[in-house]
Amino acid sequence: MDPSRIRQVKPRTEGWNQRKDAEGRPLLQFASPKRGKPPVHLADLTPEERVAKVKELGLPGFRAKQLEKHYFEHRTRDPERMTDLPKEGRAELVAGMLPDLLTEVRRLTTDGGDTIKFLWKLHDGALVESVLMRYPGRITLCVSSQAGCGMNCPFCATGQNGLTRNMSAAEIVDQVVRANEVIEAGELGGKRDDDHSAERVSNIVFMGMGEPLANYKRVMQAVRTMVDKKNGLGMSARGITVSTVGLAPAIRKLTDEDLPVTFALSLHAPDDELRDEMIPVNDRWKVDEVLDAARGYYEKTGRRVSIEYALIKDMNDHPWRADMLADKLLARGKGWVHVNPIPLNPTPGSVWDASTPAAQREFVRILNDRGIPTTIRDTRGKEIDGACGQLVVTEEDERAAVSA
Ligand code: SF4
Repeated sequence: MDPSRIRQVKPRTEGWNQRKDAEGRPLLQFASPKRGKPPVHLADLTPEERVAKVKELGLPGFRAKQLEKHYFEHRTRDPERMTDLPKEGRAELVAGMLPDLLTEVRRLTTDGGDTIKFLWKLHDGALVESVLMRYPGRITLCVSSQAGCGMNCPFCATGQNGLTRNMSAAEIVDQVVRANEVIEAGELGGKRDDDHSAERVSNIVFMGMGEPLANYKRVMQAVRTMVDKKNGLGMSARGITVSTVGLAPAIRKLTDEDLPVTFALSLHAPDDELRDEMIPVNDRWKVDEVLDAARGYYEKTGRRVSIEYALIKDMNDHPWRADMLADKLLARGKGWVHVNPIPLNPTPGSVWDASTPAAQREFVRILNDRGIPTTIRDTRGKEIDGACGQLVVTEEDERAAVSA
């Protein structure tokens, strides 16, 4: 069929107005608005800085190691349980090194108890989310890296209100530690026996609120702490997925970090015409440049890149687009990439509706037939909300209603 005769649904916002710049283009915010900084926490510091800070507090440097052990390994922030620290001054030391960063505002549980979505309040009232999911053989946490997001994607609840601020490295890491506490307390369902002592988050995906590479320095510090076997959480870098909507210079920087994390590119469209509208940052870094940067990541690290592709009915799910995606990926070689189509959570009547099962199958078939490994990604927490950031939007609506 002539591609021009295939139905094409155009992206547009629904129920909110996209913020525009002086030239009428969707506004992109890279700089974090100035707000009061969160308290400095052990996880914001390098191991050497932790020792220096403990000394500043008038204690011997080895106390830093003890605090690291309690926080990262024993998942405790409670001074009462830190009996290896001298009683005198213990509460002050813990308050100085492990200040409270996240206050749980709301928790929603679904999928028979093995998915938990948390809504956290930060010290300045900003709200962020994380989602904890048990799968066979692994426990994954989807973390936020920014409060809000400045990328202004028209389909995304998080992008509606712009960027509130960057999260600190410790605020990012603390989502993992708090999730580990919840696991240890036996609050994540789906385990047959009651022994949770050895269980913890095994995989991290940076797919919560925010564009991780727009908060590059702090995200990298958080990742280093996650993988640090001696002074951090000791997780496997391979189990950590850093995603982006396509900040090409930052992808190239990540390539040079020597951190073998999994890299995911949220592409959603292979043609600039559509991608310019779906992902406003595409205006700056086009599909080809972003794919070149992703290929560069594979070449340097040997880690296969994931291409995330939300399948949206009559918008980006056309067979010719699957072919175009295959062309663009194969033009950069074979075996370097894996495509994860994600059926959008259906909201009947919206322009952002899920592809039909037949369209999903056809899209996947075309890519697989062209030799590109493609698997539909399982989406969790569907009962909880539609898109990332939904819970925050609901909470803010409720706050507005209360203060009105
Ligand atoms: S889809 Fe991702 S990058 Fe786009 S506005 Fe939402 S959180 Fe930001």
